[in-house]
Amino acid sequence: MTQLPDQDALRQDLLTLVRTLKQRLPDGGQYYVSLQGEQNKHRRQAPLSDRKAVISETLDDVRREVSRCRLCPLCETRRNVVFGEGHPEAKIVFVGEAPGAEEDAQGLPFVGRAGQLLTNIIKAMGLERKDVYICNILKCRPPGNRNPQPEEIRHCEAYLKRQLKILSPQVICALGTFAAQTLLKKDAPITTLRGRFHDYDGIRLMPTYHPAYLLRNPSAKKPVWEDIQKVMQEAGLGRSKE
Ligand code: SF4
Repeated sequence: MTQLPDQDALRQDLLTLVRTLKQRLPDGGQYYVSLQGEQNKHRRQAPLSDRKAVISETLDDVRREVSRCRLCPLCETRRNVVFGEGHPEAKIVFVGEAPGAEEDAQGLPFVGRAGQLLTNIIKAMGLERKDVYICNILKCRPPGNRNPQPEEIRHCEAYLKRQLKILSPQVICALGTFAAQTLLKKDAPITTLRGRFHDYDGIRLMPTYHPAYLLRNPSAKKPVWEDIQKVMQEAGLGRSKE
């Protein structure tokens, strides 16, 4: 009968092989390849900035999948999928509800009137849109800008979760009721949720009013700005341009 090799010896041999392979790859350093014991050791020690290295898929991988998604009926009426855009290593991620008509036409998030207001808020933070990441709970437009349906959210949220895991930002800013309630799994209204940080899978999450609500209720700009200043502080950003 063939004798099985000792497990420790086998593991050492495999580790040596992996290390040798990593040294020979020109960009081997960016791959997180390891075996059980070492993997756990690294995971305990890995700072937030290194957590991205253990995730094998990229934003483009998810984008490709979303672009051909037909999981819910919104695929029948969309003109373009609106995946999201911004810096892949952004400290701050804004998450809205769903694309509107302009977003659907351009395939980009927050480019209508509400989007312009969000852009102004980002500028007031001393940043550009390319410095943050912007996306929505739903990637396709609900016809007539109706509210997202639970079934649509259920299907589409999986993509957002993967996006946020890859981005691994310091702060998420949830814009409006649907984004806040979906991410936090809470039924409370945005008036109750906003103004303080919540936890989203180890990431600080600040809910605030949606820019579209601000267009209808300009008096809500003050509480939004208070929320945004907390976001900036959490992300370690300097003084804003007020
Ligand atoms: S809304 Fe989301 S789940 Fe529905 S078709 Fe579009 S990408 Fe797929």
